[in-house]
Amino acid sequence: MSEALVFRRVRAIDPSHGFDAEVDVVVERGHVTRLGRGAAHDFAPSERIRVVEHAGAWMLPGFVDLHTHLREPGAEGKEDVASGLRAAAAGGFVDVCCMPNTRPVNDSLVVTEMLLAKARALGTVRLHPIGAITIGQKGEQLTEMADLRKAGAVAVSDDGRCVTNSQVMRRALEYASTFDLVVIQHAEDHALTEGAQMHEGAISTRLGLRGWPRVAEDVIVARDLLLAEYVRARYHIAHVSTAGSIRLLREAKSRGIAATAEVTPHHLLLTHAALLGYDTACKVNPPLREPEDVEAVRQALADGTIDCVATDHAPHGVLDKNVEFAEAAPGMIGLELCVPLLLGLVRDGVLPLARLVDALTAAPARIVGLPRPTLREGARADFVVIDPAAEWTIDPNRLLSKSRNTPFLGRTVEGRVEMTICEGRVVYEAGTRNTEGEAHR
Ligand SMILES: [Zn+2]
Repeated sequence: MSEALVFRRVRAIDPSHGFDAEVDVVVERGHVTRLGRGAAHDFAPSERIRVVEHAGAWMLPGFVDLHTHLREPGAEGKEDVASGLRAAAAGGFVDVCCMPNTRPVNDSLVVTEMLLAKARALGTVRLHPIGAITIGQKGEQLTEMADLRKAGAVAVSDDGRCVTNSQVMRRALEYASTFDLVVIQHAEDHALTEGAQMHEGAISTRLGLRGWPRVAEDVIVARDLLLAEYVRARYHIAHVSTAGSIRLLREAKSRGIAATAEVTPHHLLLTHAALLGYDTACKVNPPLREPEDVEAVRQALADGTIDCVATDHAPHGVLDKNVEFAEAAPGMIGLELCVPLLLGLVRDGVLPLARLVDALTAAPARIVGLPRPTLREGARADFVVIDPAAEWTIDPNRLLSKSRNTPFLGRTVEGRVEMTICEGRVVYEAGTRNTEGEAHR
């Protein structure tokens, strides 16, 4: 490992302190030791000093994902801690929060500690387990949140299942708040979505597929916001997908309720029309919605009503996806494609770049109480270097995730993650697999 890593003339962008300037950046001992115009003038390349010059590159704080499925324990053929964190690093993420709907469910300190030990041994990006709200995600008995918190869990969620019982949800909000854990809800009234295959609308009727109506999300969001207000607890909506949820959230925020929300790249980019060819890669939960919902989530992300972007990275193998539509498992991978895809929205003027960066860094970090990655002298060196002009085609053979379930394969995108730095270490570098994180193993 070189003693100093030097970046010359990068455009460093950190909206958390209104910073956007062309600078040199010097990384030593895991920290940014110098940042400023000409700050690296006395650093020449040597055996101990690596100098990176990449004309036109951007440097952004490292990204934080609140919603990743690592599939370990229980389904390591789809993904595991190692492959998932490699994919995260390739996507520019330095903090990954993993959902507890594994087998067994992460409803105890044993699973939480196992995940953290595996991640630590890899020496790559940081993992933050999310514990279950209820034991076995059965929606009945609350987990020992004190233990989960002590073991390192940063939030609780029964993701994949909704906490539908109002009394259980009330108690969960109250109990979690005593440990300063945010409750993340998968908002779906299962009674309204039984057997559902896609969004309920004109296209589900045409295809003859059972629909998942928007209102199944809206009723849970409405109830939860009322509960969060009543018990004064923090509440976070996972993968928000409907115009109705946005309306409710906007109203709740205006009245000071401590509610936050995330949106996935696919809900920002695709509508239910993507299902017309019965493409199982587009089967997700909540389902892809209508143009007016896409418009609503875009606007809400741009104006901050939706706080952050989360990938809902949900790896599945061919056995789960190359099957009849009704049998296919919901979900798509997202870690490696999130930012390249969303930069398109910046270019199209839908989303200001500073808002996108905030939604990937400071905003999600704040929701789960992680130190926020930032670009300034003295800060931990957690950042990503992006070539905003690099055009590339999404090639299934080059993805680092174990799974390939995404409808974006073959699409040409503009903007590529060139390097990801976590605590001063190069954990990902485009075009090479010999990152220092791997070499150390
Ligand atoms: Zn979910």
